[in-house]
Amino acid sequence: MNRRKIIKTAALAGAAVGLSACKKSPQDNAACESGQSQPVIEWKMVTTWPKNFPGLGTGAEFLAKKINQMSGGRLQVKVYGANELVPAFEVFDAVSSGTAQMGHGAAYYWKGKVPEAQFFGAVPFGMNANEMNAWLYHGGGLELWQETYQPFGLKPMPAGQTGVQMGGWFNKEINSIEDIKGLVMRIPGLAGDVLARSGGTPQVLPGAELFTALQTGTIDATEWVGPYNDLAFGLHQAAQFYYYPGWHEPTACLEAMVNQAAFDALPEDLQVVVEMATMAANQNMLSEYMANNQRALDTLQKEHQVKMKAFPQDVLETFKHHAQAVMLELSQSSELAGRIHQSYFDFAAKTQSWLSVSEMAYLQAR
Ligand code: CA
Repeated sequence: MNRRKIIKTAALAGAAVGLSACKKSPQDNAACESGQSQPVIEWKMVTTWPKNFPGLGTGAEFLAKKINQMSGGRLQVKVYGANELVPAFEVFDAVSSGTAQMGHGAAYYWKGKVPEAQFFGAVPFGMNANEMNAWLYHGGGLELWQETYQPFGLKPMPAGQTGVQMGGWFNKEINSIEDIKGLVMRIPGLAGDVLARSGGTPQVLPGAELFTALQTGTIDATEWVGPYNDLAFGLHQAAQFYYYPGWHEPTACLEAMVNQAAFDALPEDLQVVVEMATMAANQNMLSEYMANNQRALDTLQKEHQVKMKAFPQDVLETFKHHAQAVMLELSQSSELAGRIHQSYFDFAAKTQSWLSVSEMAYLQAR
């Protein structure tokens, strides 16, 4: 469908809904009476998360609600949880094809289709949320992400950050790299490749399947997010040991993707609403995790006697060694991947220098 036709279709569809929206408020009535009623555009947002799941699912709901409010009801986004409209891992295709106008997920889920997308989800031993946002908004990262999704008719935006995650839930203690050998662990994206090179067997499963897989022994270990989310899934009832730090996800950058044709068909002010609401959602999620993680960790430790363990140094060093090789290999997979790798690590080197005399120095000093 060409752009003109989409605009016409959206306007016609909206006009009918617009009439019924005429009695909502005095302002609406005034606009209706003067014949200035704006069409209402209805979008579907498909997500990779269970409906209203803390942080991730609620982040998608927050975004939809803000778009609805900031647009004065002219752009109404309805959120669908995983499997409500499409399965979790079909979100990318559903938005690309226009089945839904918007999607909410994480870029590393699409590694089989778009290897370069992994730079925008989570990079093992990579940048944290603060650095990631700086790179995306002010370091050329977002432009590279847009270039990556452009062939699929998608416009990506960061739509939430988890902050540093936890290393995951293990049914056995990890005392050295030998204990990683043969370990079957749910761990997606680049970190999965790192685990494989370290002797483990990575699995990719949607969040909703983790508890059962861990409890039945289909997997020996799983990472998910952090205390706030892991407590909600009850993962402490399926495994004994809770490891840190989350070397594999120094933040997960969640994404909102918009069907480019649907975005282009919006009036300019609504395009800005979508972009700004997404930016607000990006910050709001990070704050939500920061506020809730320690609270949930207290519950896990005090009420459920969860055993906290730090990964041994040799395990972290082996992971880091393989992570560098995995990233280098990814950078050689395409010309675009090479440019993203260069941009990402040049930027990370700069923020590392700055952080050493700012955040890191301050955290040690206070
Ligand atoms: Ca994770």
